[in-house]
Amino acid sequence: MSINKSYIYGPVPSRRLGFSLGLDLVPYKTCSYDCIYCQLGKTTNKTVERKEYVNKDIILSQLDEVLKCDEQIDYITFSGSGEPTLNSSIGDLIKEIKKMTQIKVAVLTNGSLLSDGKIRYELNPADLVVPSLDAALQTTFERINRSDSSIEFDRMVNGLLKFREEFKGLIWLEVMLIKGINDTIKEIGLFKSIISKIVPDKIHLNTVVRPPTEKYCLPVPEDELTRFKSFFGKNCEIIAESRISSKRRKRKDLGNKILGLIGRRPCTLSDISTSLSVHPNEVIKYLDILQKDNKIIYVEFGEKGYYKPV
Ligand code: SF4
Repeated sequence: MSINKSYIYGPVPSRRLGFSLGLDLVPYKTCSYDCIYCQLGKTTNKTVERKEYVNKDIILSQLDEVLKCDEQIDYITFSGSGEPTLNSSIGDLIKEIKKMTQIKVAVLTNGSLLSDGKIRYELNPADLVVPSLDAALQTTFERINRSDSSIEFDRMVNGLLKFREEFKGLIWLEVMLIKGINDTIKEIGLFKSIISKIVPDKIHLNTVVRPPTEKYCLPVPEDELTRFKSFFGKNCEIIAESRISSKRRKRKDLGNKILGLIGRRPCTLSDISTSLSVHPNEVIKYLDILQKDNKIIYVEFGEKGYYKPV
């Protein structure tokens, strides 16, 4: 079991989910994928082994405490720093949370384990599931997602199709487009054909906007994203430029703390998260805001990326 201090972070402002309270069910970078664009760095524990990485009673008791604070929360979101469906208690957790509160429950997943009927069943009580689909071809899948060797592209896609048949809630399919890797005319056409079978409620086009694990991962330009959006049809949205309105800038103090810290010395994401005892996913949101306000910049040195004041 992980010894992480807190499995709950936020609520963090999110364009798609409003104020989202994050629940992290696995230790840092425990994932079935090692995506080249991952903003959290290389996967350190690539696995498909399901177990109770974090005890569900601890999560529920921490959640109970947060809910008592009466903060604005629009979604309780299973996301975090790895693949949440790897936690074998995810189904029980969703059921228990639905008993505790009326707040909607969302699951952000890479979708790799939806070929398993048990996992599809466990996600059923959620209100919203946001799976990823980053490739329309086996070769591109291998290049981008660098999955555990037991995961096959066709089975993964089939899992998404079956999930659509069984799940009664909303499915927003996220497609991460990377320049020169999965944005060819051929691949985009194949994406459309697969997505037309999945019939998600929304298609969310994303591209590389935060420092990726691999430097060669480049964003698809905005005008091309706009063309792809029209090609995919009316339920497609571009989420790449997720500017957070000032109304949603909840924790000014956190922004200031980050500025204070990196003012002393340039820091990596992990340095900031550890020094301030704040979950990396929450730190990332505030780094975004500070970058957009031109207060900080991201620089690479050797194998690592650092944030420092402008
Ligand atoms: S699935 Fe998510 S957490 Fe896992 S490597 Fe890919 S982007 Fe990172």
